[in-house]
Amino acid sequence: MAVNTRVPLIAGNWKMNLDHLQAIATVQKLAWTLKDANHDFGIGGSEVAVFPPFTDLRSVQTLVSADKLEVVYGAQDLSEHDSGAFTGEISGAFLSALECRYVLIGHSERRTLHGETDEQLARKVAAALRHGLVPVLFVGETAEDLENHGPSAVPVAQLTAALEGLTGTPEIVVAYEPVWAIGSGQAATPEQAEEVAAKLRETLASVLGSDVAQATRILYGGSVKSGNIAALMREPNIDGALVGGASLDVAEFASIARFQKHVGT
Ligand code: PEP
Repeated sequence: MAVNTRVPLIAGNWKMNLDHLQAIATVQKLAWTLKDANHDFGIGGSEVAVFPPFTDLRSVQTLVSADKLEVVYGAQDLSEHDSGAFTGEISGAFLSALECRYVLIGHSERRTLHGETDEQLARKVAAALRHGLVPVLFVGETAEDLENHGPSAVPVAQLTAALEGLTGTPEIVVAYEPVWAIGSGQAATPEQAEEVAAKLRETLASVLGSDVAQATRILYGGSVKSGNIAALMREPNIDGALVGGASLDVAEFASIARFQKHVGT
């Protein structure tokens, strides 16, 4: 059996919460909390990433770089274009200049509230990679999809579409978020999440080959809390969590990041 060398990733999506001053205080507190707990940011623990609003990124960069913090960060979206007349859009080049490591692409709120299509998301994935950013691609079924097509058909189709045109060995992260679980307090069971994550890894293998599939981290998102993370992380194809609401509470988010310490949960 292949040895799993994927470093778990715990990612906090702040959405439209916390301005740049609040972001500084939150990242500082998070870094101190993890330092006090001797958090291992490698394979024995977890990489910890936050996704603040665009206007916070420069402040977060300054803090992380000045204090040499191990917390990493990324943006919540990017433009498919590199430059030009696109009022309100943000180029991947700008995110890269702010030393973002990651960028979220295709959160269900972007798909439904902003009408982002699979084709557009494939172009955003390509744009992220062009600028040295790791795309965190969201896929997930609605309650209606679940009823009509089962759990994995829609996420697999969304992933296949977003990988269109990719070649080589790109570093990407896939965030599986059942839409019905987001903000509902009702997470998928570890077994449900694992079933879809395994199908997503098979899809990665068939499109990009087994080495990329083995190296790619697949996160689960949807009502993750400190009380359910350890059980989810015991599943072989779940390599981390995408956390919304609970990422705004530093103590709770740090506890999620330290899931390996939750004995008996
Ligand atoms: C999300 O918004 O992507 C999310 C997973 O939120 P929550 O953790 O609050 O369900």
